[in-house]
Amino acid sequence: GLKAGIVGLPNVGKSTLFNAVSNSAKAQASNYRFCTIEPNVGLVDVPDERITKLEELVKPNRTVPTQIEIVDIAGLVRGASKGEGLGNKFLANIREVDAIVHVIRCFEDENVLRDEGAINPVSDKEIIDTELQLKDLESVDKKYQRSEKLAKTGDAKVKAEFEVLKRCKAHLEQGKSIRSLDLSKEDKAAIADLFLLTEKPVLYVANVDEPSMHTGNKYSQALQAAVADEDAKVIVMNNSIEAQIAEMENADDRELFMGEYHMEEPALNKLIRSTYSLLQLQTYFTAGVQEVRAWTIHEGWKAPQAASVIHTDFEKGFIKAEVIAYTDFVTLGSEAACREAGKLRIEGKEYIVKDGDVMHFRFNV
Ligand code: GDP
Repeated sequence: GLKAGIVGLPNVGKSTLFNAVSNSAKAQASNYRFCTIEPNVGLVDVPDERITKLEELVKPNRTVPTQIEIVDIAGLVRGASKGEGLGNKFLANIREVDAIVHVIRCFEDENVLRDEGAINPVSDKEIIDTELQLKDLESVDKKYQRSEKLAKTGDAKVKAEFEVLKRCKAHLEQGKSIRSLDLSKEDKAAIADLFLLTEKPVLYVANVDEPSMHTGNKYSQALQAAVADEDAKVIVMNNSIEAQIAEMENADDRELFMGEYHMEEPALNKLIRSTYSLLQLQTYFTAGVQEVRAWTIHEGWKAPQAASVIHTDFEKGFIKAEVIAYTDFVTLGSEAACREAGKLRIEGKEYIVKDGDVMHFRFNV
């Protein structure tokens, strides 16, 4: 499954965010699922208004949204790459995630302890980055040593691999993360076995205080400026408010509370959706009377590969797919209406699935 890990220095609001995620899922409608796998690991539905819309139209027996796994990775402190704090365990946890949600403290509160002096989101971010970069440098260095020897006598492929390692090493030594290094698909394949921490996509959560939740503040602005060249998204939110919304079991109470803070939806929804798109994921739907369901695929996947998410046999036995664009389905209201209007397409093996497609696969067993 897909995994996102919440990281950040101590007392920045990581567990507050994790609790908000887990409680909000529990508080939603009955078909909204959340399960806690371990105290710090949860599976959460990806909020998507399209599946709600399809549910209204098709009225199926059940509705199944897609899910994402969220892990609260605590224990990172200055020196973690050298084994400080929970050091190595923490870093091993990060290695397993597909994306990183980096929480940064952008609120002042003298009651909330802080080891790093005055509030400084940019240096906080750099502390974490440095630890991850040092760990990556260790991994790259090991392979670099071996590769350097091999490259002297080896073929073009071995030499090319060494060049990639050399670039990665130099980049990390300059205090930069691998995600900001321009690597081709082949380059990436050459270092894939290292599972580098700083190669993973990142999303920043600027945890601001309540008065700044819509506008941001000087801290979140400083953070935004600092990551401008990283092509990374910064979500400004107030984790405490999110946790409070999430604790309310009654939908009317929740609406009222959000209304008081001029919120249209929990910022959490935006965070989960952003994580999903950060991973370059897409959704297609199957919509039958038994079940309306969302399926997760990667951008660019062809129909047979998309079908394999439902069942591995679907890929081998793929014959064709009946496809209706989401907007057509919703505009016309049903599969039958789409068929009549000529909006149901028959697509073959080369079809690249589009986000929101409503699909029906035909296959041999
Ligand atoms: P973690 O160590 O990063 O997991 O941090 P926690 O989520 O445990 O939060 C540390 C402390 O900061 C707790 O007392 C929270 O209630 C408090 N806290 C979290 N978010 C905010 C916030 O947005 N504003 C304020 N004032 N306090 C917060």
